[in-house]
Amino acid sequence: MSICFRKGVRGGYLFKNIQGTPKANFEEMKIPKYVVIPFTQGFGEQTKPLVNVGDKVKAGQMIGKGDKGISSPIHATVNGKVREIREIEYRGKKTLAAIVDSDSSTEVVTLDGAKKDLSKFSQESMSRLLYLSGVTSLGATGLPTLEASSSLSMDKVKFLVVSALETQPFAIPTGLVYQSKVSEICQALQALQKFYKDIPVYVGVSQKDKKFAQSLRDSLSQSKNIEIHVLSHKYPQDFPEILTETLTGVCVPDGEKPDSVGSVVLDIADLMAVYHALSEGMPLVSRWISLGGSGYKENKLVRVRIGTPASEILAQFGKPGVETRFLLGDPLTGDVAQDLALTPVGREIKSTSCIEEDAKRHFLFFMRPGLRADSYSRIFASSYLPLEKKLDTNLHGEHRPCIQCSYCEDICPRPLLPNMLHRYCSHGMAEEAKGLRLMGCIECGLCSYVCPSKISIMRDIQKGKEELKKEL
Ligand code: SF4
Ligand code: SF4
Repeated sequence: MSICFRKGVRGGYLFKNIQGTPKANFEEMKIPKYVVIPFTQGFGEQTKPLVNVGDKVKAGQMIGKGDKGISSPIHATVNGKVREIREIEYRGKKTLAAIVDSDSSTEVVTLDGAKKDLSKFSQESMSRLLYLSGVTSLGATGLPTLEASSSLSMDKVKFLVVSALETQPFAIPTGLVYQSKVSEICQALQALQKFYKDIPVYVGVSQKDKKFAQSLRDSLSQSKNIEIHVLSHKYPQDFPEILTETLTGVCVPDGEKPDSVGSVVLDIADLMAVYHALSEGMPLVSRWISLGGSGYKENKLVRVRIGTPASEILAQFGKPGVETRFLLGDPLTGDVAQDLALTPVGREIKSTSCIEEDAKRHFLFFMRPGLRADSYSRIFASSYLPLEKKLDTNLHGEHRPCIQCSYCEDICPRPLLPNMLHRYCSHGMAEEAKGLRLMGCIECGLCSYVCPSKISIMRDIQKGKEELKKEL
């Protein structure tokens, strides 16, 4: 069973005025000394290395290709030499990676067959370029092509759903960032719509970006079957399952991804990668990432070579002398980097968070007014003051038993009973939790974020899901 909310996210939370939110400032990061390139990136299986230690490689050269299952090619992202091929931990999973020392040069080898006019592609030639460029590994479940690049075959694609909004705590101002790229975005949208035999296209834009929504509408006024919708900015409106349900009205069943209902979900940055692949033959060697959190000197967008290690990002952009925690992704769902030198920014990473460590216990924390604390309960003074709210790693309280406040229930976007799921899952009763739609949880992390008893609800739910998967 699944419950669908056509008008927008049910529950959810509006993150406002959070310190460390990126501005629409841009910078090109200098070529890193080395890159760590996982052979598994984005959607799909691990690819097979096509290079050996000691080989010279060029940025844009294919260095990994799948020989079975679903995958997309992997490319070298700097010019240089392969120093090592080893196992690393990337986003909670072990994968093989190539460590490439760079020679600091900036040239990139492009692919043949690019066309400035995207309407001139045949389905076969577009499929080839999308696949060879690696952009097929983007999106919630990969981009379907004539190759084995997605869990969805081309004839099963029913809609293209595009997220033009970010709603997490350190969200970028999407409209400001992409206002000057409307033409490229629309060309990529039209090309993909034609590629998938004129399927309906839905674009979700934040209510904060009405000007951007209007620019998209104006630019697409001659296109049929492309709808631009202005949506609530509440987190997690931009999650693929929620966005598909809101825009298409089709429910994504519990435990399934949007591909189960024929929905291909991309975001604006993915569309830009599609545009560059088709118009320039540009393989996926770099991407824009946001730098969120007070651990950075400045919060902005930076273009990095894919595979740039966290250590190099922090050396250039982190606050010196401040103890921080680095995450690939946002503070609610991101992966904490353990080994900064071997934690790369992969091709699917859009944001990074660098949060100041604060492990001290605050004396009489419950009597503090909470001037800078973000709180769902509105008991802190910060709810009524226009001060920036600070996110750090401190628990700001004590672990306690559940007090039945029902905040987690009210905020859950699915909607579920997170307190009950936590209770079952933390006692090894995943089977019982299954009856309460355990698999319907989309792991947005809001329940843990708002819980006044500081219960790691989402972590318990994830453990319960793992338990169920093992039993299958
Ligand atoms: S993590 Fe799961 S249970 Fe918690 S609020 Fe999000 S969807 Fe609901
Ligand atoms: S938010 Fe925490 S304390 Fe409140 S009902 Fe949910 S689990 Fe219990």
